[in-house]
Amino acid sequence: MDMITIAVPCYNEEPALEPFFEELTSIAQQMDYVEFEFLFINDGSKDGTLNKIKSLAERDQRVKYISFSRNFGKEAGIYAGLQNALGDYVVIMDADLQDPPSLLPEMYRAIKEEGYDCVGSRRVTRKGEPRIRSFFARMFYKLINKMSDTDIVDGARDFQMMSRPAVDAILSMGEVNRFSKGIFGWIGFRKKWLEYENVERVAGETKWSFWKLFLYAIEGIVAFSTTPLVISSVFGLFCCMLAFVMILVIIVRTLVFGDPTSGWPSLVCIILLLSGIQMLCIGIVGQYMAKTYLETKKRPIYIIGESNLPKNSPAPRI
Ligand code: UDP
Ligand code: MG
Repeated sequence: MDMITIAVPCYNEEPALEPFFEELTSIAQQMDYVEFEFLFINDGSKDGTLNKIKSLAERDQRVKYISFSRNFGKEAGIYAGLQNALGDYVVIMDADLQDPPSLLPEMYRAIKEEGYDCVGSRRVTRKGEPRIRSFFARMFYKLINKMSDTDIVDGARDFQMMSRPAVDAILSMGEVNRFSKGIFGWIGFRKKWLEYENVERVAGETKWSFWKLFLYAIEGIVAFSTTPLVISSVFGLFCCMLAFVMILVIIVRTLVFGDPTSGWPSLVCIILLLSGIQMLCIGIVGQYMAKTYLETKKRPIYIIGESNLPKNSPAPRI
């Protein structure tokens, strides 16, 4: 019998866990032709999430958990889930029921019968989300798809089922700055998309503030495109050429018309503009350097505080 691991990163999800687990187990019961492993990753929650998970583990033998020593972020949670999953197929799922477990049978069927390696999910609406956030999200997807060779699908959730080869491919990408939406696209494989309407979370609240999303977007661009570096070089070249033209114009004007030097306001504007562009370009270069710096430290992606996994399961990358 095949085994499916459901990996669930949780951060302050105490109120959502009970309804989530109930729905998940009822779907699992319907799918009696596969075995299940439920792997909860407690990402340094500050509420009673860990205790809740422990009580689930007492109730149900299939529940495994890993508890991080602090909050490492959802990306680290996903990585830990994939790394410690024993299943032939692995599903990443949020704990707030925004990823409907009812799609699981369809996902498994598509992999087994239609020969896909990954079955992802895409929400086609952004109902219930602040308008301004949807607007910026759409802009981000347009921008990053123009800049990057990797296909990053608008509305794609992290909720997906993957075959073993796909999971191993993701694990082989050991980068510390993990932008999963890009990583999932980068590995390739045959992928099917299931579409569904956005569902609002069942309890608790979203962990993403606008500012966090903005930083995440920048992380994604830096991780999957070097176009900003090209743009800043082109900017530099353009400014140089403009300067040469201006020099010629001023020399000719002074020789022909004997124009006295005048106009410091325009000079101030030019200096401000150019120093602004310079700072921007240095900032862009700095972003790439900072990421390189963080990668070279080779810090582990997460640290386990406690878990109920057997001792010989894979250790975090050193
Ligand atoms: N999450 C996590 N670590 C974090 C933030 C979030 O493990 O630092 C988990 C969270 O518990 C949830 C999933 O990631 O299961 C998605 O988070 P959320 O629902 O807040 O994101 P949204 O659905 O609003 O994009
Ligand atoms: Mg959510």
